[in-house]
Formats: sequence, C-alpha cells, structure tokens
Amino acid sequence: MPRMKKLAILGSTGSIGTQALEVVREQPEQFQVELLTCGNRVDLLIEQALEFKPNAVVIGDAAQLPRVKDALFPQGIKAYAGPEALEQSVAMEGIDTVLTALVGYAGLKPTVAAIEAGKNIALANKETLVVAGALVTKAAREKAVNIYPVDSEHSAIFQCLAGEWENPIEKIVLTASGGPFRGKSREELAAVTKAQALKHPNWDMGAKITIDSASLMNKGLEAIEAKWLFNLKKEQIEIVVHPQSIIHSVVQFRDGSMKAQMGLPDMKLPIQYALSYPQRLQTNWPRFDFTKYPALTFEQPDLATFRNLALALDAMDRGGNAPCVLNAANEIAVELFLKDAIGFLEMSDLVEHCLAHVPFTPDPQLADLMASDAEARRLARERVPSAWRS
Ligand code: NAD
Ligand code: MG
Repeated sequence: MPRMKKLAILGSTGSIGTQALEVVREQPEQFQVELLTCGNRVDLLIEQALEFKPNAVVIGDAAQLPRVKDALFPQGIKAYAGPEALEQSVAMEGIDTVLTALVGYAGLKPTVAAIEAGKNIALANKETLVVAGALVTKAAREKAVNIYPVDSEHSAIFQCLAGEWENPIEKIVLTASGGPFRGKSREELAAVTKAQALKHPNWDMGAKITIDSASLMNKGLEAIEAKWLFNLKKEQIEIVVHPQSIIHSVVQFRDGSMKAQMGLPDMKLPIQYALSYPQRLQTNWPRFDFTKYPALTFEQPDLATFRNLALALDAMDRGGNAPCVLNAANEIAVELFLKDAIGFLEMSDLVEHCLAHVPFTPDPQLADLMASDAEARRLARERVPSAWRS
C-alpha cells in the first residue's frame, strides 16, 4: 500500500474544492488534508476544518481571522489570513500535492510558491497557465515537479496519453459543450441575461467559469492551458462542439489513431485521477449507459458569434503577455457582467480593447506579467461608465 497522500486544497469552499473534499471523504485511506484555504466563506471553511482536521487553514479576508481562530484553535488547527500567508503555507513541510482550486489570477503566486517548494500540483486553476504558462512549466521542469490536470478536457488528454509518453501527439481535439447559448445569433446574445448565462446545461460550476463557458472564453483559456501542459502548437489544437459532454477530449497520434476518454460529466473523476495518478481508485459513481444517449453529436464552434474564443486563440498565437492581458480583461469583464454593468457581447469588446492597448511584451518575466495584468484591469475599468466601476 502506498502511504497516504497529503493534500493542500486551495479554494476548498468552491465548486472544485468541495468536490475534492467529497473525493477525500470517499477515500479516507488514500488522502489526508493538511491545508484548506478559501477567500471569504468563513462558516464553510470552519465546518470543513472541523471535519477534515488539517494542520492549518488560510482565509483570504483578514477581517474573518478572529472567528476562524476562535473556532479552530481549541482543535489545534492553525489559522492565518491574506495572500502572503497563502503563499507561505503551500510550502509547509508534509504537503505532497497542492490542488489549485481557487479562481482567477489569484492562483498564480501560490502555484508558483508551491512549485518552488517542490510540491506536485493538481491544477484546476487554468488561469495560472494562461497568464504565465512559459514560466510555470519551466519552473516545474526545473524543480522536477508534476502538474496533473484537473480540468476535464485536459484530464481526458492526460488519460489518453498514459502509456504513450514516447509517441508524439499529432493533434488534440478539445471538446466543448457549447454552453447555454449554442446556436444563438449575435442579436440574441446581445439581450441575454446573467441568470440565463449562469445556467450551464451539463456542469454545475463556480460563477466565473460558468460565464466563461457561456461566452466560449473558457474553451479559449483551455486551448492555452493545453498548449502549455502538452507542449503543443496552435495547429495541433482543434476545438469541436459536443453538446452531450460525454467525450471529454481526444488525442490523435501520428499513425492516425484517435484515443478518446469518455464518461458522464462529473468533475469528481478528473479531480480524483489528478490526486491518485497513476492509480485508479474504486468508485461507485453512476456509470455511462449508451442506451440513454442514442446520439453523440459534433459541430464546429462559431467563432464569429462567440468572439471571445477567437480573441483567446489569437492571444495564444501572439504569445508573450497577450494571454495575460486577455485573462485580466476577461476577469473584469465577467465581474462587470455579473454586476449587470455591461452586456454579454460587451465582454468581448472590453477584452479586445485591452489587447489592443496594453503594450506587447514578447518574453515577459513575472514582474512584467504583474504589470500587464494591472494595466489591463485599469484599462478595462476605465472603459466602462464610472457609475459601474467597483
Ligand atoms: P468557485 O468560485 O466555485 O470557487 C473558488 C474558490 O476560490 C473558493 O473557495 C473561493 O473562496 C476561493 N477564492 C476566490 N478568490 C480567492 C482569492 N482571491 N484568494 C483566495 N481564495 C480565493 O470556482 P470553481 O468553479 O471551483 O473553479 C476553481 C478553478 O477551477 C477555476 O480556475 C476554474 O476555471 C477551474 N475549473 C473549474 C471547474 C468546475 O467544474 N467548477 C472545471 C474545470 C476547471
Ligand atoms: Mg474544462
């Protein structure tokens, strides 16, 4: 029996974080939680810590720290607050794998800190690779640290590559559900509401990725994520809309053979695989039944209607700080859309505006990326009427 894996779960109160804890609950012999962190959902964090007994917790919102300490100190669980504490705590001795399930650019620094400390990464936070894929994958290589994908498409590709490490990839096919607005025209998209965008047909996820899925920005971010995880060129990444979300992605090899990974849409599987690799652990989750799915269908993505996808692929092609700018502008765009401050199509306008106006840096270092991120956020906020800025 391999010894128990000791986990840090960053963003434990979110969609991926809570599902990761379900996996831990179902596999008590396999995993032990050493660190739990969240932004501000203090009650849930305390509840999780009392159940899973980590060594420490970190809460983003420092104002909540006294409550967390009061609840957890008697149990011998340490509590800290703020981004610096998060960066330091991932380096804690005794952590084997850090699951990055926090959302957005906030994932970058703790992921880099975890890699520097020699921890393996189970990567849900795709924004980290979008912003700084070159630096992060280089650091992982230098530290001989593995990055295991949690995103279902990337997990699918990783699963198809098991036993094929010496065989070059001809191309990958990233599948996309198409989201709630598949088939809609630009006129229709101009009028969609936040409530409609938040209803994903196949997946129950956090708000930011749900909006990204509706706008297809998510698939663009995933193409960039795949480029770095699997060392691919733009021409090797094909995107196909597959509304049933059963085939999670495909790898095509140089002999023309294609391997696909399939299953019901349930993030617990890719989360568990990232944590248990190379083992597969027994589960009793529902199994896929072919007779319930008489047709698996495929279509081309509509890049003219869903401009976010075209913008992301273009930023991937340009490289340098372009994906970082795209990501920052998109984070502000999603935030403003969720506040009803801008319409659905204006999200692409904001992203395009920032890509056109933040100066291009071909080979950015971390400090350059931080500056590009800040500048894109400033430009995006400046663009919307002041009454709507937060
Ligand atoms: P979520 O919004 O449900 O949860 C985010 C978590 O991060 C929460 O615990 C929150 O407290 C914490 N957090 C947010 N901002 C923070 C900050 N500034 N500092 C520290 N902690 C912070 O998000 P999610 O849907 O679980 O997604 C998490 C990541 O996983 C995203 O990068 C997303 O793209 C990726 N992902 C999610 C899914 C999914 O099914 N939800 C699928 C694939 C990839
Ligand atoms: Mg995905």
